Amino acid sequence: MMDDLKSLYQEVILDHSKSPRNFGKIEPHTTEGHGDNPLCGDQVTLYVNVDDAGIITDISFEGKGCAISTASTSLLTQLVKGKSKGEATELFGQFQDMVTSSPEDTNRSEAPDELKVLAGVKQFPMRVKCATLSWHALKAALENKAALATSE
Ligand code: ZN
Repeated sequence: MMDDLKSLYQEVILDHSKSPRNFGKIEPHTTEGHGDNPLCGDQVTLYVNVDDAGIITDISFEGKGCAISTASTSLLTQLVKGKSKGEATELFGQFQDMVTSSPEDTNRSEAPDELKVLAGVKQFPMRVKCATLSWHALKAALENKAALATSE
């Protein structure tokens, strides 16, 4: 059963890395955030539209990276679209907890199932940075919003 689950997770990761969702650049966008992981060579830029109510109405990304980083970014865009900035920040916390906690804590993780496909990266500390890169880019994008808005 665990092996079935593992291969299902691997299938989801492969699927998202081969055909990433929300890939490309949305114009116009209200903010963007960049992530760089020199250890692996992953680079990602997130393009985000946040409305006046603080809801992420649209999000896309460009970049190049390993399968884990691309799949994680693709999953992120699907998950946070339609969420408030606060909800997105909460998901980031849950995701980070999940990939940095001890393996036996995975079942107790509050992260949604869509993100649990990446729980296995915690066995590979180098890969944790690949998986969290786009979440850091999202955080940067959301914190940029005011600065970009006033410069327009
Ligand atoms: Zn990587």
